[in-house]
Amino acid sequence: MLTELKIDRPIHVTKPKLPDFELYKEYIEGIWENQWLTNDGPLHEQFKENLKDYLNVSNLELFTNGHLALETAIKALDLKGEVITTPFTFASTTHAIVNSGLTPVFCDIEMDSFTIDTDQLEKHITSQTCAILAVHVFGLPCNLEKIEELAKKHNLAVIYDAAHTFGVEINGRSIADFGDVSMFSFHSTKVFHSIEGGLLSFQDEGLKQKLKALKNFGITSQDSVDYVGTNAKMNEFQAAMGLSNLQTIDEDISKRKLVHETYIEHLNSVEAIRHLPNSMENVKHNYSYFPILLHDQETRDQLHESLKNYNVFTRKYFYPLCTDFSCYAEYQEDMPKATFVSERILCLPMYTELETEIVQQICSIIRFELGE
Ligand SMILES: *Cc1c(COP(=O)(O)O)cnc(C)c1O
Repeated sequence: MLTELKIDRPIHVTKPKLPDFELYKEYIEGIWENQWLTNDGPLHEQFKENLKDYLNVSNLELFTNGHLALETAIKALDLKGEVITTPFTFASTTHAIVNSGLTPVFCDIEMDSFTIDTDQLEKHITSQTCAILAVHVFGLPCNLEKIEELAKKHNLAVIYDAAHTFGVEINGRSIADFGDVSMFSFHSTKVFHSIEGGLLSFQDEGLKQKLKALKNFGITSQDSVDYVGTNAKMNEFQAAMGLSNLQTIDEDISKRKLVHETYIEHLNSVEAIRHLPNSMENVKHNYSYFPILLHDQETRDQLHESLKNYNVFTRKYFYPLCTDFSCYAEYQEDMPKATFVSERILCLPMYTELETEIVQQICSIIRFELGE
């Protein structure tokens, strides 16, 4: 260890962005005036409208978190049987499938974007398959065209776990505009947040009433409950946080871009790193994470440990794979590429207010620890 490189305070892998306090306070004062705390309050409605503008989509609904949004999407689509999904994701994706009484069928990933390998997807389709639940990992879009083509051919629903991709665009088109439904997470650790929160964007306007009912106990009118619903509503304090953060989102993403570019500049030539995040030319990125791949698991694990001595806290994300969770032992399957990535991946600190000097220092520490 090189003591002089130690950072004088802990640098975590992520840090929630807090908006200007006065701005949040203004919204909160409105809550005291209206005395409306939850159930489609005025801030909730305003937040929805502002998000429609920002994401450039016409159909969306808000939820108390991303996970319940995803479960609600599955329920709203009336799915039964098998869902093809990726093992390289957060536990939430697989849990949403299994909690909905469906069977996850895992498909390996591709090495450029770490998203589901569409060349292997078709071989997993059976007469039981009802949907594809793919994840835009670390803000990189899946192979949208191929997924759409396969879904059409086999008459499958397409759900995207877009938890990582708030604000991402492909050829100028919002990522929220693909698939039947997309789920965004507004958890505090994400690029954009409402403390906790979630959003579904969807193509079929007919889903709107059903989603609204499902997140409110299945209640469809004062005297009728038509669905076995849940409670997944977003409250006014969450909406106030979301509205405040939405005002600076473009600025926040630019700051992240600078962090991203600083990492690339200082880590580009490090031999021990086999992969730095890709950029795609036609994609407007949101710089949600900064994952690197080391050459082997031992180097990754050692680096993860040794960085702690410098006050730098990285995350092995996603490790382990969902197929390696003890609760999913019955689905254990060989996923060679996902396993390869999962054993070597390390997410470096990435957040809006991470200072350039600190990023440079983290890079110096990494280079020293990797012997370069
Ligand atoms: C954060 C996240 C979720 C869950 O979102 P919550 O808002 O925390 O419930 C689901 N999938 C992925 C890939 C995530 O990163």
